[in-house]
Amino acid sequence: MKITRVDQFAPRNRTRLIRISTDTGIEGWAESTLEGKPQSVPAAIDEFAEYLMGKDPLRIEHHWQQMYRSSFFRGGAHNMSAIAAINAALWDIAGKHHGVPSYMLMGGNVRDKIRVYAHWGIRDLSDEGLEASRERLTMLQKKGYTAYKAGPAGTWRAHEPPSRIDEFVKAAYTMREWVGDDVELCFDFHGKMTPGLAVEVCNEIKGMRPMFVEEPVPQENPDALKRIQEQVSFPLASGERLLSRWEFREVIEKQAVSLLQPDVAHCGGPSELKRIANYAEVYYQHIMPHCAIGPLALAACMLVDAVVPNFLIQEQVDAGLGEGLLKKPWEVKDGHIDLWDTPGLGVEVDEAEATKEYDGEAYGYHKELGGEYYYENDGSVADW
Ligand SMILES: [Mg+2]
Repeated sequence: MKITRVDQFAPRNRTRLIRISTDTGIEGWAESTLEGKPQSVPAAIDEFAEYLMGKDPLRIEHHWQQMYRSSFFRGGAHNMSAIAAINAALWDIAGKHHGVPSYMLMGGNVRDKIRVYAHWGIRDLSDEGLEASRERLTMLQKKGYTAYKAGPAGTWRAHEPPSRIDEFVKAAYTMREWVGDDVELCFDFHGKMTPGLAVEVCNEIKGMRPMFVEEPVPQENPDALKRIQEQVSFPLASGERLLSRWEFREVIEKQAVSLLQPDVAHCGGPSELKRIANYAEVYYQHIMPHCAIGPLALAACMLVDAVVPNFLIQEQVDAGLGEGLLKKPWEVKDGHIDLWDTPGLGVEVDEAEATKEYDGEAYGYHKELGGEYYYENDGSVADW
């Protein structure tokens, strides 16, 4: 079998796809979306496509090594997202070639279904805000979700007045009151806080027993994370912006957090996600792969979730279940997604939809994430 084509598509604002074709007619699909950088990954994939042409797609590890090591400059979000998409598409091809779900080629599944959490929270304590939150919760409860993630809304400065902190803390405790004690609740700080503020806020919410707090500070400094984890009694999580084992190394070896969130679409693909999970197992850390994009990225996450023992829970978003993009979207039942039994990554792409070109207004440099962020009081740059 030989690779004959690598095609790329941009059917939606936040969706980039690749399709790798072979001379046997088998095709592999994957997602190459890098949020906020819609043009860069496609260019990187075009460069790798020159290498892939005519190669055997089943030599997945060989190609990973080639793409990662041979062009001298390594790593980086664009490069690793390009490698990730190609790697996932090759796993799809391999499963289809052997006639088995791709997870059977990774040692076989160690679980039958994948526990997922939904995005839900209370962001606005006004009557209308509470009503909207209540409606969404009811809808999600009907699907049987048993875990939800929220985040403090808006920008956070180095310190905020008690009123701002109290508003978030009150929302957190209200969420607990609404869902009861059998449901897990977690919060994503999106790396917007300083270590001191993060500790203060975490200690304020510890009484409502969060499952974890994610990215209390940005990802670059594992010592800062470790310092926060040592002062907080519940698990912290990080890793959606870390790429490859080498960027996870300090977080794992310093045991800076309890839970790791590699993003399969950015960390180097399913091959690298599995290696990160195996590495983390030594330190009793669990993985909860980040997935805030589409249904093919979710499939690539679940490929690894299925085969590693130290998997805890999978992120997914409403738009990421594949409505309108997959012939059969992923279905959440009782808070889980059943493993597929079809060959490959378990997705059948609706080609008519997937190959459409998105031409909406938001296409372009970093506008996919909503534009530019500044502190209102002084106009200085704020984190997303
Ligand atoms: Mg996050």
